[in-house]
Amino acid sequence: MRFLVLLALLAAFGVPMGVIPIVAVGSEATASDPERDGSGPILIPLGASTPTATAVPAPSLAVTPYTPHIGIIAGHSGSDSGAICPDGLQEVDVNRDVARRVVALLAQRGWIVDLLDEFDVRLNGYQADALLSIHADSCGFPGKSGFKVVSAESTFTPSANVLVDCVARYYAERTGLPFDANTITYDMTRYHAYYEIDRNTPAAVIETGFLLDDREILTQRSGVVAAGIVDGLVCFIEGESP
Ligand SMILES: [Zn+2]
Repeated sequence: MRFLVLLALLAAFGVPMGVIPIVAVGSEATASDPERDGSGPILIPLGASTPTATAVPAPSLAVTPYTPHIGIIAGHSGSDSGAICPDGLQEVDVNRDVARRVVALLAQRGWIVDLLDEFDVRLNGYQADALLSIHADSCGFPGKSGFKVVSAESTFTPSANVLVDCVARYYAERTGLPFDANTITYDMTRYHAYYEIDRNTPAAVIETGFLLDDREILTQRSGVVAAGIVDGLVCFIEGESP
């Protein structure tokens, strides 16, 4: 009798699902038999068949990885033009293009990314695994090429130094631009956002290059510029070798 019930259950659940060969499930069902012996004529062991069915697609139980959360400020966005070159090229447009590419690349990795304006209200108490503000240097330095990455003058979070180190190294590697420490300004080391965000959010500013001598890579190959920044963020979040 019990065997017949099990057989009926097999036909009802195991076979239509296509995953459970009759023989295999039969032996599993038999194995669960002792659990219910002596409990009388239980005719609806539906509960017994459910675990058998759900146990099959085990891959869905894979460990969910941690999802990084990053904030990207498009420098001057929503506020002003930033530097303006004699021919009309505006820093804010260059920053916005790079920032959008960075956000898209990070989103492709499944990360949570906020694209923020320069004085975004969300910066107040902002909490994330990292905040990076993207700027570019003006056209006022003929003959100058290079980028720089800086965290707060008095770093609130020690990991901000790791963030700076990662972004600087991988950005240089991708773009081939040199690190230019000579033109770091208070605008970078005392950047307003450092004083608005949560103290535990590591933050840095990158000046991606000079709008005059580095214009070609900043405007024509902004995908490379963005990839360099993304490599640096991956290095910071996941460790070396993005
Ligand atoms: Zn700027």
